[in-house]
Amino acid sequence: MPLASKTVAIFGGGIAGASLARRLSRDYPVTLVDPLDYFEVPMSAPRSLVAPNFAEPAIIPFPEALPTVRHIRGRLIEWSTDAANVQHIDGHTSTLSSDVSVLATGSRFSSPLVRSEGGTLEERKAFYSRFHFRLLQARNVLIVGGGPIGIEIAGEISETFPDKRLTVLEAGPRILGGTSPKLAAHAQRVLAERGVAVIVNERLVGRQPTDDLFGTEGEAETDRGRTLSYDLLLWCIGGRPNTAFMRSQHPELLDSAGRIKVDRSLRVCGQSSVFAIGDITDLTENKMAWHVQGQVKVAEANIRSVLEGRSDGFKHYKAKTNDPTMVVTLGSRAGVSHLPGLGLVTAGWLNRMAKSAHMLIPKYRKALGVPKADVLTHEIGIRETAAARER
Ligand SMILES: Cc1cc2nc3c(=O)[nH]c(=O)nc-3n(C[C@H](O)[C@H](O)[C@H](O)COP(=O)(O)OP(=O)(O)OC[C@H]3O[C@@H](n4cnc5c(N)ncnc54)[C@H](O)[C@@H]3O)c2cc1C
Repeated sequence: MPLASKTVAIFGGGIAGASLARRLSRDYPVTLVDPLDYFEVPMSAPRSLVAPNFAEPAIIPFPEALPTVRHIRGRLIEWSTDAANVQHIDGHTSTLSSDVSVLATGSRFSSPLVRSEGGTLEERKAFYSRFHFRLLQARNVLIVGGGPIGIEIAGEISETFPDKRLTVLEAGPRILGGTSPKLAAHAQRVLAERGVAVIVNERLVGRQPTDDLFGTEGEAETDRGRTLSYDLLLWCIGGRPNTAFMRSQHPELLDSAGRIKVDRSLRVCGQSSVFAIGDITDLTENKMAWHVQGQVKVAEANIRSVLEGRSDGFKHYKAKTNDPTMVVTLGSRAGVSHLPGLGLVTAGWLNRMAKSAHMLIPKYRKALGVPKADVLTHEIGIRETAAARER
C-alpha cells in the first residue's frame, strides 16, 4: 500500500509508463492515464498477426498488471507547465494535477498492426482474429517499410505461410537501417531463401499510409516507375512520437522530430518535477524497450528524490548512442541479433532463446509482477492456421 500522500501522474502505460507505475505505486499513489484498458507486450504483435492466440498471454488488463494504480481511460491532449488536460474516453475533459508528472506516451505507427491507438482488450484480440482471417485469404502481400517491424512481420508471414508471395519495399539503401549492415545482410539472406523479395532505394508514390488493412487488391507505383500488385498492403513505417499535447503551449520543448527535450536526470528541460521517458524523448539512441528499462531505473530514483524534497544528488542517464544491440526475429525459429558481449549472432537456437520463441512475453509479465502464463508455441499457431484453412 502507498506510504505517502504525494502523488504521481503518469501519461502513457506502455513499457516505460507501466514499469514505472508498478515500481512507484509500492510507495506512492499513482494515477495512470492511457486510452487503452490493457498493457500489450509490443514485441508479441508480429506473432499475434499470424497466430492470434499468441496475444492471450501478451495482453494484460491494467487492473491485473497494476492493481494499486488508479487508471483513467483517456488521453493527455494538452500539457503546459500549469496543467495537464485529459480527454476521457466518454469525451469529457478534466485537468489532472500531481506532485510529479511523467510523460511516457510512446510511439504511434501508420497502422494498427502493431499498436492500437485506443480500445479495449476484447477489441484488440478481435482485431488479431479478423486480420488473421484476412491474411489467410491473401496471396500477394506487399509490406511497405523494411525497419524491424516490417522485417519481423515478413519473417512471421514467410514462416507460417510459405506459399504466399511477399515483397518488402524499403525507401532507404538497405533494410534494418538502425542496426549494423551485417545484421541486415543476414536477415535479407534468410528472407531471400524463403522467396521474399526485398526492394530497396524505392518508395511508393501517390499514396499516404492508411490504416485500412481490410481494403481490396490493387497496384502501387514506386518512384522508379515499378508497378507492384498486391492483394494485401501492410504499412510498416512510422514510429513517430505521441507528443501532440506539447505542440500548442510548449513547442520549444520539442526537437525537430517532435521528441521531448530532456536533461540528464530525465526531467523535461527546465522543469523540476516533470519527467519524460521512453520513445518520446530526444535521447540519441535506438527507440527500444532494451534502453527504456535503464531510463525507468534512473527516473524512479530521481522521482523519489523529488517526492522526498531533495534538490540534488540526482542520477544521470547516459544515452546508448550508436549501441547496435537488437534482436530481429524471423519467425519463431530464426532471427539475427547483436547481443552485448557476443556481437552478431545468427544461430537460430540462440535467437530463439533470446526472443523468437517467446517474443519477450515472460520478461514483461514478470516485470509487471503478473503470474507466468503459457506462452503458446508457434507450433500451436501453425496448427490453428492449418485448421482455419480447412474450414
Ligand atoms: C513490433 C515491435 C517490436 C519491438 N521489438 C522490440 C525488441 O525486440 N526489443 C526492444 O528493446 N524494443 C522493441 N520494440 C520497441 C519497444 O516496444 C519500444 O521502444 C517501447 O515500447 C517504448 O515504450 P514506451 O512506453 O515509450 O512507449 P509505448 O510502448 O509505445 O507506450 C506508449 C503508451 O502511451 C499511450 N498513449 C499514447 N498517447 C497517449 C496520450 N496522449 N495520453 C495518454 N496515453 C497515451 C499508448 O496507448 C501506450 O499505451 C518493439 C516495438 C514494436 C512495435
